[in-house]
Amino acid sequence: MAELNENFIKLPGSYLFSTVAKKVSAYQEAHPQADLIRLGIGDVTKPIVPVVIEALHKAVDEMGHAETFRGYAPDLGYPFLREAIAAEYTRRGCEVSSDEIFVSDGAKSDSANIQEIFAPDSRIAVCDPVYPVYVDSNVMAGRTGDYDAADGTWSRVIYMPCTAENGFVPELPKETPDLIYLCFPNNPTGTTITKEQLQQWVDYANRVGAVILYDAAYEAYITEEGLPHSIYECEGARSCAIELKSFSKKAGFTGLRLGYTVVPKEIVRGGASANALWARRHGTKYNGTPYIIQRAGEAVLTPEGDREVMEQVRYYLRNARTIRDGLTAAGYTVYGGVNSPYVWLKTPDHMSSWDFFDLLLSEKNIVGTPGSGFGPHGEGYFRLTGFGTYENTERAISRMQKL
Ligand SMILES: *Cc1c(COP(=O)(O)O)cnc(C)c1O
Repeated sequence: MAELNENFIKLPGSYLFSTVAKKVSAYQEAHPQADLIRLGIGDVTKPIVPVVIEALHKAVDEMGHAETFRGYAPDLGYPFLREAIAAEYTRRGCEVSSDEIFVSDGAKSDSANIQEIFAPDSRIAVCDPVYPVYVDSNVMAGRTGDYDAADGTWSRVIYMPCTAENGFVPELPKETPDLIYLCFPNNPTGTTITKEQLQQWVDYANRVGAVILYDAAYEAYITEEGLPHSIYECEGARSCAIELKSFSKKAGFTGLRLGYTVVPKEIVRGGASANALWARRHGTKYNGTPYIIQRAGEAVLTPEGDREVMEQVRYYLRNARTIRDGLTAAGYTVYGGVNSPYVWLKTPDHMSSWDFFDLLLSEKNIVGTPGSGFGPHGEGYFRLTGFGTYENTERAISRMQKL
């Protein structure tokens, strides 16, 4: 008889967004007239920019003619896109070549799949609070030990608290990990890391032989000087860091699906190359991102595409600023929202994250995301996002100022 994978069975249900959805629909049913404003969304809302739409149309037409039709895309990505991405790194002064870039359908799948090329008994370290994909994918791989339902932690995972005290940048862990997941600018806290701080992580990883899995999905939202746009700005990162990137939050590709992972050839362990293993894995399990989508990605990387998508990024950033400034003026303690579409606020009067969720929903008809859903150290915090419309963002904040 076939048995199901016990690692998958161990995985607790994902309660956060389903509980939010249930509570919101129950409220709506009881109060059909309520004018709900949703600031919980982690998805973009603006349409794809004109330059990209034009590239999509052109690529679709090419598919309809024998001379320009394309079948399977190369497993690792079309050279035109890999070269355009490598050129971006060169412009930033980072050493990354096109054969170190692996085009994919997004950073969620890459961040979940990358663990496959590492030893089954690798110890992982994650921030707390954290984007849940890093932990769950390692649970599925049987790497995380036993689950403690009382505090929602796994026995073999090294948790690195990110708190107001450490500026939401984790301290080096006491136990030595093999794989370190970092995400900056961060989801959910909206905060980021300085180049000096990131350099310390790179030095640490090189010292202990660990590999950093660096999720830079929100890189386009960096507005301040002196912040690293890529981990390869740090010296020595090529021997210890894999970078995950996405077109989702930068160019509104959450529905189109496009991302990439950078695996430098200098990451070699036990004589084997991570770059070669990821190429082998990609070639076996992935048959290439659609040609049409890769052409759309190429358009994002042109000067005109960049201008158009960055205008949208600035729109979301203005919303995040509006939330941050409005709530600060009203006496809330607020983090993030400057180099990120996310604002992370402390709940007033030491309320729990879920109590504050209920209060905001019932008193102000605003939907956000309880911080405790991202990990134990998210308790007492709450996430709002700049992905709504400016008008709704302003209305929501003026409601919250009167709470
Ligand atoms: C949204 C997001 C991603 C990107 O996901 P895609 O699969 O590329 O859409 C990756 N990491 C984090 C932390 C995110 O919030």
